[in-house]
Amino acid sequence: MKVLVLNCGSSSLKFQLIETDQKRIESQTEEVLAEGQVEKIGQAESIVSYKNHKGDRIKETPVILEHAAAVGVLLKHLTHAKHGVIEKTEDIEAIGHRVVHGGEMFSESAVIDSAVLEKIRECASLAPLHNPPNILGYEVASQTLPNIPHVAVFDTAFHQTMPDYAFIYALPYVLYQRFQIRRYGFHGSSHRYVSQRLGKLAEQPTEDIKSITIHIGNGCSMAAIKGGHSVDTSMGMTPLEGLVMGTRAGDIDPAIILFLMEKENLELDQANNLLNKHSGLLGITSVSNDMRELEKAMEKGNDRARLAIDIFCYRIKKYIGAYIAALGGCDHIAFTAGIGENSPLVRRKVCEGLECFGLKLDKTRNDELNREEGLISTDDSSIKVWIVPTNEEIVIARDTMTCVTERMGTNTPASDKWPDLPAGSVGRES
Ligand code: AMP
Repeated sequence: MKVLVLNCGSSSLKFQLIETDQKRIESQTEEVLAEGQVEKIGQAESIVSYKNHKGDRIKETPVILEHAAAVGVLLKHLTHAKHGVIEKTEDIEAIGHRVVHGGEMFSESAVIDSAVLEKIRECASLAPLHNPPNILGYEVASQTLPNIPHVAVFDTAFHQTMPDYAFIYALPYVLYQRFQIRRYGFHGSSHRYVSQRLGKLAEQPTEDIKSITIHIGNGCSMAAIKGGHSVDTSMGMTPLEGLVMGTRAGDIDPAIILFLMEKENLELDQANNLLNKHSGLLGITSVSNDMRELEKAMEKGNDRARLAIDIFCYRIKKYIGAYIAALGGCDHIAFTAGIGENSPLVRRKVCEGLECFGLKLDKTRNDELNREEGLISTDDSSIKVWIVPTNEEIVIARDTMTCVTERMGTNTPASDKWPDLPAGSVGRES
């Protein structure tokens, strides 16, 4: 099955066309036929990048004023006579949409029909910046490709297995009941992908594994995973909680905001910007939110860059300790995303001092393995440490394929399985 994966932001559209089927899912050998993105939608010049599995690359800067036009552009490239990978758009059999927030309503992915769409809209109050563009992505894609199933895959769904004592805040309980204020966690597709890869790499059934996955890129989060299920994660009701990030503060004393509101007459927007855009690595250093820049600055003697990296790594180390306690032990730790896959320094500093848990990092492996999957602990380390490059799109394609085939496999009449699809468009059932 050819699944188009779409990740729609307010001014961007990322896509991958993935070949998948049950066999490929079981062996984790799905193939990315083409991928790319349209950036700066609605601006004077948009940027389109595209590459296919044969190595052809396209970069162009057309004017793309709206997301519907961006979908048209990606379909144009996918079906292009020279660098395309399919003959016609009808070769796309399903579309998987990344949706950031599924609230408590979605603990797994769902075929989008009008009821599901309504629920996604309801969840938008919990992610006002993210869910609306995700919904827009569905709307424009389903207008262009109305005759195939569309599936929503939620960033929050993987963490819905957390026990109540891990997700309820110590606030008046009525706030949870009234506004669903609780911890949800994000990056779920990434943590799920990495934990599944760990099973494969360690040649152990996922059900037997206790793992800690560390997703550190622009956004940063960790998850404690037992038997393939998330039991705790560092992000909360929003992605702000937990680790230090590029521009987000992560855990702070909430009274700091009250203090600043009073001292500096801080407005709501300003407080939001302070915590989300001007804090984290950028806030501490005033140099950059990019770990590459900070490593260079530290080498040149910038002590604030040294401090930011120390704080960043120390916070991760503290969470590892907490998660070993939450899991009752740990078999595997995996680093993923931009910093996790590329920074031997950060991985080393995080692992320093964890020898008390039997963790032994192999210096050579850690220095030499970058952006590549593999072991970076010593062979006799009792906690195995890995680099596992993440791939959220593969998880979205897997779930899309599974949701679609599960629905097809039921005895429900076709008209009820795909209630929102036009009559005659579900011939794919055969
Ligand atoms: P992501 O959000 O996963 O794309 O990660 C992006 C971040 O990864 C960047 O902002 C950098 O901080 C970090 N990064 C990428 N390459 C490197 C590198 N070679 N060394 C350190 N950090 C890196």
